[in-house]
Amino acid sequence: MPSFVNPEKCDGCKALDKTACQYVCPNDLMVLNKDTMKAYNQEPDQCWECQCCVKICAQQAMDVRGYADFIPLGASVVPLRSSDSIMWTIKFRNGQIKRFKFPIRTTPEGKAEPAGGWDTKANIDDFTLFTEPASLGLETVAAPGTKTWKK
Ligand code: SF4
Ligand code: SF4
Repeated sequence: MPSFVNPEKCDGCKALDKTACQYVCPNDLMVLNKDTMKAYNQEPDQCWECQCCVKICAQQAMDVRGYADFIPLGASVVPLRSSDSIMWTIKFRNGQIKRFKFPIRTTPEGKAEPAGGWDTKANIDDFTLFTEPASLGLETVAAPGTKTWKK
């Protein structure tokens, strides 16, 4: 079952230009009805059920059926995201509740380096990747189709 929005909980992320669910969906499925300020999945057939929108929604207004490989039919799965982990709450059909917490990052918030600490000033016309030759453990790399070593 694709993602769906509980309109009673959705506040349209009203302070944002783009809602959190719109921002995060890898398939660009979420849209905001600006009249009602409620989001909805515009193309449910294309939903991968990846749960990204469910995890990011601060109002816990989104839901997706849990995968059968980790919960039985009829159970609900509710993620609660914090800055360093997600607390998952599983509610089974018989009312039993289980919670487990997973870390979601290995670096403090705001400290991740986009280029992994590598020098990004590489020449775009260069045939090497921007981390090379150091990431290969080399001092130089041969140009493709040649035996010429780059200095
Ligand atoms: Fe509504 Fe949640 Fe989407 Fe924000 S992220 S628009 S609150 S469903
Ligand atoms: Fe998009 Fe994934 Fe949410 Fe489906 S579950 S709407 S693919 S973010």
